[in-house]
Formats: sequence, structure tokens, C-alpha cells
Amino acid sequence: MAVKILTIKEDILGANEEKARRNRGRLDKHATLTVNVMSSPGAGKTSLILQTINRLKPKTRIAVIEGDVASSLDADKVHQQGVPVIQINTAGGCHLDANMTEKALNNLPLEEIDLLLIENVGNLICPVEFALGEHKKAMLLSVPEGDDKPYKYPLMFTEADVVLVNKIDLLPHLDFNTTAFNQAVTGLNPAVKIFQVSCKTSEGLEAWFLWLEDETKQMKNRQG
Ligand code: MG
Repeated sequence: MAVKILTIKEDILGANEEKARRNRGRLDKHATLTVNVMSSPGAGKTSLILQTINRLKPKTRIAVIEGDVASSLDADKVHQQGVPVIQINTAGGCHLDANMTEKALNNLPLEEIDLLLIENVGNLICPVEFALGEHKKAMLLSVPEGDDKPYKYPLMFTEADVVLVNKIDLLPHLDFNTTAFNQAVTGLNPAVKIFQVSCKTSEGLEAWFLWLEDETKQMKNRQG
């Protein structure tokens, strides 16, 4: 008898897509713009989220879902900013999925949230393969990681709505070629928006904030 092979990955992804669609329906109903923030570990996702809360909180009702393999270090920092936050520990899992996101949504007052930021687990491969129900995907690449990442991890750059190039305050000390990087990214994804930022000095972040405010407004107009 031949060995039976089960294509588990497709089944898992199919079930995830279905649950992600349901999450998306809930978020649409409450006009909660949801952004899935992805990057390698240490690229600056938490710093970006803290800067975003600090700048947009006066006008926008924000909540955060934090995804990490372990600990609540990032959620604790968000909590100190006084916005609702749920920490998901994936217990070894290298990405969030729609099921984990649903459990977090069950614990958030969606009717009171205009903008939901989801910090995915630090990883350039798996997070982009699992839809959560988000409206937009934001990807961070910090310049110490190198300008060759679009060639090595193309799917992440192809699927992103926004690519933020972070830590540009370090550019004078590195061989990162911004022109070559931008060409590689737009070659994969002509519609992508690229923002050059430093979460440390705040340089360039205003364009990101404006984009988020505009998308949040459009979401309200669609639902209203
Ligand atoms: Mg983090």
C-alpha cells in the first residue's frame, strides 16, 4: 500500500482564511481599521506602535494586539500609554493566525476602537502567509538588516501596503543603498508606499501618521 500524504498546510491555510474573513466582517461592522504590523525581531515594531499611539491618541481611539512567542514586555509598554491592549503568547508559534486574533477581538471593545494595530511575531516569513482579518499590512525593515531583503523574502514585500524603512538615523554608518532597496521593493510591488523613518528621532514618521489618519477616515466614511 502506498504511503498516504496529507497536504496539511493547505487545509490549515484554508481554515485560517475562513476565520480571517469572519474577523474582517466584525472589524468592518465596527469601522475599526486594522493594520497588521510585521518585521524581523528588533526592527522596531513596538517603537513604531508607541510613537503612533503617542501622536494619534488625542484624535483617534487606538487599541493594540501584541503577538510574541513569550512574555508581556511589549504589551506592558503599550498599557502604560493608557490604551486597550491584549497580549497573545504563541507558545513557540512563529506567527499570529486568525484564530488567535479572534480570541483577542473577543476581549476588546471594538465599538470604541477606530484603529487597531496588531504587532505580529518577529519573523519575515510566516506572518505574511496567515491572514488575520486585517485591512492593511505594514512591513518594517530596519537598515541594519541590509538592502537585499526584498530578494530574500519577496512575499513579505509583495503583500505589504506600506513598507517603513526604520532606523534611518544609522544610515551614515551602514552600506544600505536606499535607491537600490526602493527599486527592488517597487519592482515586486508597484503600488506600495515606502516611508523612510527613524522611530528614535521621529524623522519621517509624519507621513506614516497621515497615511493612518487618512485610512482611518476612509474606513469611517465607508461604514458611515
Ligand atoms: Mg515588539
